[in-house]
Amino acid sequence: MDWDISRLEDLEHYIWRCTACGTCRVAYDFGPPATCRPICPAGTEFGFEGNMSSKGKIAFARGILDGSLEFDEALLNDIYRCTICGGCQSQCQLDHKPFIPEIMEAMRRKAVEAGAGPLPLHKNLTRSLKSYNNPYQGPRRLRTDWTRPFKKAGRPIKDIMKQPAPVLFYVGCTGAFNQQARAIPTATASLFHKLGLDFGILGENELCCGSTAMRLGDAEEFKRLATQNLELFKKLHQEQGVATIVTSCAGCYRAIKKDYILSSAYDEMMDGVRVIHTAQFLYELHQEGKLPLEGGLEMKITYHDPCHIGRHLNKFEVDADGSQLWKGAYLGVSEAECLYEQPRELLKAIPGVEFVEMERNRANSFCCGGGGGVMTGFGEWAAKNAGLRIQEGLETGAAAMASTCPFCHYNLSQGAQRIASDMKVYDLVELLDQVVPAK
Ligand code: SF4
Ligand code: SF4
Repeated sequence: MDWDISRLEDLEHYIWRCTACGTCRVAYDFGPPATCRPICPAGTEFGFEGNMSSKGKIAFARGILDGSLEFDEALLNDIYRCTICGGCQSQCQLDHKPFIPEIMEAMRRKAVEAGAGPLPLHKNLTRSLKSYNNPYQGPRRLRTDWTRPFKKAGRPIKDIMKQPAPVLFYVGCTGAFNQQARAIPTATASLFHKLGLDFGILGENELCCGSTAMRLGDAEEFKRLATQNLELFKKLHQEQGVATIVTSCAGCYRAIKKDYILSSAYDEMMDGVRVIHTAQFLYELHQEGKLPLEGGLEMKITYHDPCHIGRHLNKFEVDADGSQLWKGAYLGVSEAECLYEQPRELLKAIPGVEFVEMERNRANSFCCGGGGGVMTGFGEWAAKNAGLRIQEGLETGAAAMASTCPFCHYNLSQGAQRIASDMKVYDLVELLDQVVPAK
């Protein structure tokens, strides 16, 4: 299986397109009322006009390419102080726009290839991936701990390796191993049971999707995991009848949708298999009138867009042959695959819920601060940034913030704790599980 993963050199043409204009500093909404707030978590914490924002990082890429910069401790710290949130990409309008997060990750890949990256704390994650196939140093058997209550209640979840099912619920490592985030697979499986869905999980046989490795620049580890997963998905389709893979994890979804397609064998491996995020899956059921909602939740609630199912799913149009403007020109962006509206529509459909929007939303969302290895590499900063997001939620008068990603769920909860806020943090599935009645 070949992989088409860009080297920093491949992106050089685009690296020279940044004019250091600074447009990527702020998320604008022209209203009414018009609003503008910072968009870059790294710039917010460390100073936008320094080397921490998009324009500074792109300048590093030039220095790495022309050999004037070495991967010393200071440079490594700087290139890993980025949540790879894509906020700068949303704001920039120049020709390198489609490639900005790619440039950040290509720098990291070069650092790893040089034997310098990732940061020492990140190396615990990549070592764990190699030893345990998950970044949490969790033995395989712990992957199914969250399923125990189902077994106890006489509603065991199918092991899809042993029992065929048309739907694979791909849990993801954070949902399986993080104590707090376990509420998400638990609510997802509970909902699926109530909806009478024939589904199964991989349990101890589930491997990390490889997103952590890819975001940290360890392309070899990503390829190892992604190749095994693609082969497994194909086998499950052929032997166990899997036609749909549902995941509640924004990171896993992004990896399968955007990173796995870099494989030359993607179409062959995924032939007959649809990958879908729970938000879209449940939204479709709702549209078909198959998601009964009973009772109600008297709650004022806002929604935090995870970067990985939001702007990371943008599709960019580039003038590849120069026939429209010039070779490599940025022509436009489609947000058709970004899951912006589906979670909002589901929240609004819950009886009793009053939905309110934060100023920074959808493509202008402010990252929770946990992505791109920041939660591990710079835990204090990640929680502080999440506190800023919670504060923004509080300004709307909301008592709860919903999201659709176990990583955001955990980090936002840390942020709420850090600023001693009463804001309740939920995943969408936790709320829906409260109002979908048992059959
Ligand atoms: S990344 Fe884009 S918006 Fe930001 S400084 Fe460079 S050209 Fe300007
Ligand atoms: S990806 Fe996010 S954190 Fe990184 S430079 Fe861009 S806006 Fe800042």
